[in-house]
Amino acid sequence: MLPKFDFHVHTIYSDGSAPPERIVEIAEKRGLKAVAITDHGPGLSVGAEPSKFLILAQDVRVIREETEIQVLAGVESNITPDGNLDMGEEILRELDLVTAGVHYLRSGNCEEQAMEYMRVVRKALQSHKFDVLVHPLYYNKYLLPWIPPEDIEEFIQELARAGVAVELNSKYHTPDKTFIQECLREGVKVSVGTDAHHTEEVGRIEWQLSLLNRVGVRREDLVVDLI
Ligand SMILES: [Zn+2]
Ligand SMILES: [Zn+2]
Repeated sequence: MLPKFDFHVHTIYSDGSAPPERIVEIAEKRGLKAVAITDHGPGLSVGAEPSKFLILAQDVRVIREETEIQVLAGVESNITPDGNLDMGEEILRELDLVTAGVHYLRSGNCEEQAMEYMRVVRKALQSHKFDVLVHPLYYNKYLLPWIPPEDIEEFIQELARAGVAVELNSKYHTPDKTFIQECLREGVKVSVGTDAHHTEEVGRIEWQLSLLNRVGVRREDLVVDLI
């Protein structure tokens, strides 16, 4: 049986509705082995200021004393239009899990957005260290249909070289089975995230588990034991 974990949860530090201790309580109740608090970075209007993440990390250290499950202090940082992360190294290195995603792109049609998405993420992969790419290929919609297959192949190889895992995100139901299979073939690890903003959503990973079982994922393909 695959271990249950949720590495993408928001709290009152950004736009979530519950404090971290409540999230951990629920995660424990739902039988998770591990949970990561990943509030939005400062690049979003609802995001937390960088210094808040140090307080969050401190909070997590206290919570760990009172639970059996693994609790990680993390961030969902924003990949900026110039391919950087919206938080500096000095804060990121204090966190257990650095995830990153694209939340703003220049406007354009789907094809232009897909190209822009690839450009900024590739740049970020070359110059920044992060652990997980959240909701891969998603920006307003799933952009994969607008990307040539050979570009996808190269993109997955770049993820593998950078040692960055891809997230199966149940809020947007991305990425799809074929993309995950290709990632696994190339040795890209897989993370699981609900993108929960409310307690009801924490640890609801049925969609991910069903897909992971269908593709025959092994425990060692998951990021859960690595971080
Ligand atoms: Zn996001
Ligand atoms: Zn999120």
